[in-house]
Amino acid sequence: MMPSSPRKPDWTPDDAGDAFTARIISGVAGRHDGLDAGRDAATPPVAATRGPARRPLSIDDYVAGVLSGDRAVLARAITLIESNAPTHFETAQEVLRRLLPHSGNALRVGITGVPGAGKSTLIEALGLALIAAGHRVAVLAIDPSSSLTRGSILGDKTRMEGLSRVAEAFIRPSATGGVLGGVARKTRETMLVCEAAGFDVILIETVGAGQNEVTVRSMVDFFLLVLIPGGGDELQGIKKGVVELADAIAINKADGDNRVRAEAARAEYNRALHYLTPATDSWHARAYTCSAETGEGVANLWAVVERFRERTTESGAFAARRRAQAREWLHTLLDEQLRAAFYDRPAVRAALPPMEAAVMAGELSATAAARQLLALLDG
Ligand code: GDP
Repeated sequence: MMPSSPRKPDWTPDDAGDAFTARIISGVAGRHDGLDAGRDAATPPVAATRGPARRPLSIDDYVAGVLSGDRAVLARAITLIESNAPTHFETAQEVLRRLLPHSGNALRVGITGVPGAGKSTLIEALGLALIAAGHRVAVLAIDPSSSLTRGSILGDKTRMEGLSRVAEAFIRPSATGGVLGGVARKTRETMLVCEAAGFDVILIETVGAGQNEVTVRSMVDFFLLVLIPGGGDELQGIKKGVVELADAIAINKADGDNRVRAEAARAEYNRALHYLTPATDSWHARAYTCSAETGEGVANLWAVVERFRERTTESGAFAARRRAQAREWLHTLLDEQLRAAFYDRPAVRAALPPMEAAVMAGELSATAAARQLLALLDG
């Protein structure tokens, strides 16, 4: 039995932000910073500012607090990053700039699968095992739908109960950013901040919905697809493109009556994987069975991740992917900011509707209209 907790964290998207921080901090039993006592001495006075009447933190406060592993400051730093207020942006970016040299040391693992596949049960089992082995685990989520459904994939209060109670874990539901691009930026930056705070395993969860997987793949080292043995054609339920992104497939719920079907699914996916281009150079993705509920096969899954890290570090694929991801991220940001800079221009806003009308009426070619509009960028 787990020790009883004074409170379960009960998130809703509205809890993101300071209220969220305060509630999680007060709701978790025991120590919150996940650090040994020796490092506490380095914690600056900002740690004493928890609660509703907290003073604003300076950039120095944020940086020192995160680096010392102060969970309250970490949560506030993430809230700052998630903020859509333009005034927060510069501060957040400066905090990030200073934390960046301290980031990058974690193993970043993406976990995807349809709702109900057992992702959170698996993350709970895996996370607790990793913590028992001396790791510190941060769990983040990418779920752009959460702002629409008002129910983050990590927002369910019954999920990851054990993990949410231990000091060495940090669970952060999806930023409620709306569009995927915004959520992706926030999750990526949150990951960096968690790394700077000393978390050495980052688990990024997402629901299987096409573009989400591609986004998560672009920010993790290892990508795990969680499936369940089902009737009928196993490959029908999940898009082939997603299987191609995976470094491993976990056939979960391989327990009880499901064992035989899980084995059959494993064999079937292994055959399919054989014909696919590997997601990572020097690594052959395979399917494994596990039961997040009983824990069987979960340690083996992590052994696969460790083996992946060893092999790809040796081959250079690990570092090469990180470099490629950094470059890709730069281009993503450039695209995003160019678009924003363009569409935010008053001249563009004024000219766009008549141009659209002219193109729709066939009076102007789309090419000519695009040219004229883009010329407004020089004005
Ligand atoms: P998620 O939506 O992918 O995060 O799935 P959950 O982790 O919430 O699990 C969905 C349901 O499947 C829950 O009722 C779990 O208890 C159950 N479940 C998860 N893993 C296993 C497993 O390994 N075996 C069995 N039998 N049930 C499981």
